[in-house]
Amino acid sequence: MATPRCPRQRPARSRRSAIMGSLYAETHIRALQLAKQCVDMGARIRTVSRITGLELPMLRSMFYQDTSSAPGRWLESSDWYHRSSVVDRAEASIFAVIFDTLLVEHGYRPSEALVGAYRLYQERCALAPAIPFERAFNLACEMHGIWDSGPPQLALHNCRRCHSRYLVAAGDQTADLGGCVFCKLLKRYHRDPHIQAHFVAQNVVAIASNVG
Ligand SMILES: [Zn+2]
Repeated sequence: MATPRCPRQRPARSRRSAIMGSLYAETHIRALQLAKQCVDMGARIRTVSRITGLELPMLRSMFYQDTSSAPGRWLESSDWYHRSSVVDRAEASIFAVIFDTLLVEHGYRPSEALVGAYRLYQERCALAPAIPFERAFNLACEMHGIWDSGPPQLALHNCRRCHSRYLVAAGDQTADLGGCVFCKLLKRYHRDPHIQAHFVAQNVVAIASNVG
């Protein structure tokens, strides 16, 4: 014989389904909004998928009909950082300090910290950003081992001299011997037009120490 159905059972289940459906919709909409911001910042389609969890066909149909994604995969290491110019390393460190502050001190989700930090970094740039979004994504991965990127390869180090924070190889105990990137910028500032153009009318130490 069939068990009599509790008259309240069905509505309760329906309410649960409705709540689950609503939560799914909110999560999906948030992911799409995040994807749009990443695309606007110049992210490759595979990077957007990795950050948001959205499938490539959906991203392609929604965001890459008129805009083509740059070819290639995401960067697999931070070697580029160690080979970069002083200006690029300084700008990378500025982004890294902002990202670290949002993620660790303010408890942002990694994806929100990435997009928020990149926007704040862009606003601080006097010229076009030296660090494209793909490199900022790589820095975030290499600092915190997020998005399945393996153990951290980069860390923020405090300069004993100017008290700025800048990126070094994780575990590097000799960072101070190599010299702080912001101390180098200060030293060269008055004789290097390239550095002056990037950090016009701003104290580079103040930039580095105040972003947190
Ligand atoms: Zn320094």
